[in-house]
Amino acid sequence: MTAARLPKREVLLLRGGTVITMDRQRSVVRADVLVVDGRIDKVAKSLRPPKGARVIECEGRAVMPGLIQSHVHLCQVLFRNQADGLELLDWLSQRIWPFEAAHDERSLGHSARLGIAELLLGGTTGIVDMATVRHTGAVMQAALDSGIRYTGGKCLMDQGFEGLREDTRAALKETEALGKEWHGQDDGRIRYALCPRFVLSCTKPLWNEVRSLSEKNGWTVHTHASENRAEVAAVRKAVGDDNIAWFHRIGLTGERLVLAHCVHLSEREEEILSATATTVVHCPGANLKLASGLSPVPRLLQKGAHLALGGDGAPCNNTLDAFHEMRLAATLHLPAFGPRALPASEVLAMATRNGARALGIEDQVGSIEAGKRADLAVLELTRPHFVPLGPDLHATIVYCAKSSDVTDTIVDGRHLVRGQKLVSLDAASLAENASAELARLTKRL
Ligand SMILES: [Zn+2]
Repeated sequence: MTAARLPKREVLLLRGGTVITMDRQRSVVRADVLVVDGRIDKVAKSLRPPKGARVIECEGRAVMPGLIQSHVHLCQVLFRNQADGLELLDWLSQRIWPFEAAHDERSLGHSARLGIAELLLGGTTGIVDMATVRHTGAVMQAALDSGIRYTGGKCLMDQGFEGLREDTRAALKETEALGKEWHGQDDGRIRYALCPRFVLSCTKPLWNEVRSLSEKNGWTVHTHASENRAEVAAVRKAVGDDNIAWFHRIGLTGERLVLAHCVHLSEREEEILSATATTVVHCPGANLKLASGLSPVPRLLQKGAHLALGGDGAPCNNTLDAFHEMRLAATLHLPAFGPRALPASEVLAMATRNGARALGIEDQVGSIEAGKRADLAVLELTRPHFVPLGPDLHATIVYCAKSSDVTDTIVDGRHLVRGQKLVSLDAASLAENASAELARLTKRL
């Protein structure tokens, strides 16, 4: 077994690092960072460690806000490398949905813990997740036990694929009960999100009820939209409108809506996204690997849309490495939009402060400022692939860094990764047993 060992919150002094604050001015300063009771207490030079504080030496390192991936599927991590060479709709119906339908509580818990281990070791401290239809508690429990910051919930599907389709009322009743049970746990580190899969797998009564549950409880709505041309055509046929235009028509667009992908958009949809401050989660790795296309990210930014970043699922990427996604996002659009179309600082904001809003807590995480929750990643900057450092550290991080450069990860004041070793989960055992767990699941297919 791989029981989690969640460490206590400690007084932490991160000493002598270069702090990438991602505050409003996006300032970069040489300073110490003091963490007390799960919060950033001070960011200042030469702080004296309080009695009993654990000191993390950060000389030659960057101290940055923990990265936030605003669209992932922990439930799919066990299917990594099992669904290559397919486009979205075939990828779902031939591989992913049958796999998800075969999950039991044990395999789902394993998948979630394996994913969280990868994320924390790579400096990702917060995620917006979509679980599968059944056994959602196993994913929520893994998030609670491992220490990651989590917004997510049960996947809702009340039409389409038989192995996952549920009765509308039963699905809604279960999601509401899960939300009541989990939302706000551990001082708000766990937050619930309503997760209808996408337009094609949900009926209109379900969408309407999702909207009212979100309004009533303040829960985020996390779904997919306009990822693939065939999907967009099928949506138009099913509801007589494009994805985002339809969401707008039923009153779902706005600050609580988190939409993964948004690759194929009409001009009107781009305007709707910008005007309603809906979060668009750019998933460049998944969009490339599923041959979906390129989201018009520079144009959306120019129009004032709210952009975040995510690795999506392990079987369509095939890693959950936030640094890889940042580098893709920062370079992918330049041939079409020009070399200055997407500055590194903007991409880093997508993976930090913009992600905080997708999590539903932009006032609490996403930057290093006194009073905010202490979600931090420490990055080694002295390795050969970083040097000589340039004048713009945001660019150095976005263009040069990899998840394996992360030495320490802190979430909510808990020191979860210490010197590249994860303390809340047994990463080696999770990796070692992944194939056997997948084999057990495959037998149930
Ligand atoms: Zn997805």
